[in-house]
This record gives sequence, C-alpha cells and structure tokens, in this order.
Amino acid sequence: MIPGVRLVVLGKQGAGKGTQCVRLSHHYVVPHVSTGDMLRGEVKAKTPLGVRAESLMDQGELIPDEMVMEMVQVRLSERDTRGRGFVLDGCPRTIAQAKDLDEIVHPFGLELVVDLNVPTDLVLKRLASRRVCVDCGANYSTAAPPMVNWTCDVCGGEVIQREDDTEEAIRRRLDLYEAETAPLITWYIERDLLVTIAGTGSPDAVTRRVVGAIDVRRQKMRLA
Ligand code: AMP
Repeated sequence: MIPGVRLVVLGKQGAGKGTQCVRLSHHYVVPHVSTGDMLRGEVKAKTPLGVRAESLMDQGELIPDEMVMEMVQVRLSERDTRGRGFVLDGCPRTIAQAKDLDEIVHPFGLELVVDLNVPTDLVLKRLASRRVCVDCGANYSTAAPPMVNWTCDVCGGEVIQREDDTEEAIRRRLDLYEAETAPLITWYIERDLLVTIAGTGSPDAVTRRVVGAIDVRRQKMRLA
C-alpha cells in the first residue's frame, strides 16, 4: 500500500460512510475530512456558522453550499491534505458542491469516488439503532454498544442518539439524498471517477472491497 489517496465516499445516510472513511483514512494515512463532523464541531463551539447550521441540521436539511464549501476549501488547503490527500465524507452533496470541489482539488483532481450502495430498508434499520460519541464521533449501535455504560471506548465521551436520527429527520435526509446527491452518481460516471461498492456485510469485507477497487484503478492508470 502506498500512503496517500484523494477519495470521495458517497452513500445514503446509514450506508456506513463514517465507519468506512475512518478505516480508509487509517489505511492510506490521510485525514478523514467529514463535513458532518466539522459542522457538529461548529455547532458545539457556537461559532456563527454553527449557530446558523444547528436548526437546519436537526431538521435534516442541507446547509447552504457556499457555507459548506468555504469550510471544505480551508480544510483541503492545509498542508496535510494538500500533501498526501484525504478521505472526504459527506461532501459533495449537490452538483454545485461537486463543481466547487473540482476547483478546490485542481490541479491534482480526485483519484476515485466510491458510492457505498446499501438497500434503503437496511439503512433505516441501521439509523434507528445508531449511537455516536458526542466528542469524537465514534459510531456504535444498540446491538454493539460501548463496553461501559454508553461511555465511548475511544475517548470516554458520552455516547448518544444523534439529534437528526429521528424518524422525521431521517426521512427528510433520505429524500434530499435522492433529489440532490444521487445525481452526483451520473455526474461522476461521466467523468470516469465512480465505482459502486456493495456496503453490505462486515465492515472488514466492505473495506477490502474499497481498497481492491482503488488498487484496480491504480493499475488501470499505470497501464493507460
Ligand atoms: P452527516 O454527518 O454527513 O450525515 O451530516 C449531518 C448533517 O450536516 C446533514 O444532514 C446536513 O444538515 C449537514 N451537512 C453535512 N455535510 C453537508 C454538505 N456537504 N452540504 C450540506 N449540508 C451538509
């Protein structure tokens, strides 16, 4: 494995993006850049962006493109991401964001866009049982809780159900995914960047599929 990758991971809420992005960022030794985590950090710190974003996020609405992309532009201009790359999680979510991202990553470009594909009924089940650490964002579920009393195994933070994992907000987020984010799949197919990976099965199996797809891509680029 060669350290470094410039990867975008798409997928419905509950497809396992967060879990896979953490694993892939360790594998390729690059930062995991999650716009959801960054926005939750802004909300927690009560910054002007956080104050504007909070109620939109609780309702499952999208944050306006310019606000998100300014944040992404700053993060992807830092030395670590510029030098070695990133695993980008939760962005782009609209075609306008994808166009901005193209400019931000110029001239290096993206290496691959992974679409983690999971059937909607499974996603709904996963979201209803999902629990997260308020401090580090580590993912748990009612079936696989932390070892001690809803205290995060990684950092000791409190593990809770996300504010936007209510039935109503989940439905809204899935609708928005179909309307705004799903068109990105065609957009990236047209740019020969997309690979669809089955997001079902164990986390290990899914990670192996993604790493395998990146290997195939690299081989193809070497032969081109
Ligand atoms: P996530 O953790 O990726 O599910 O994101 C949680 C929430 O943050 C979303 O439901 C949106 O309200 C907001 N959000 C995260 N990323 C974006 C983005 N790229 N564009 C707009 N809103 C976003």
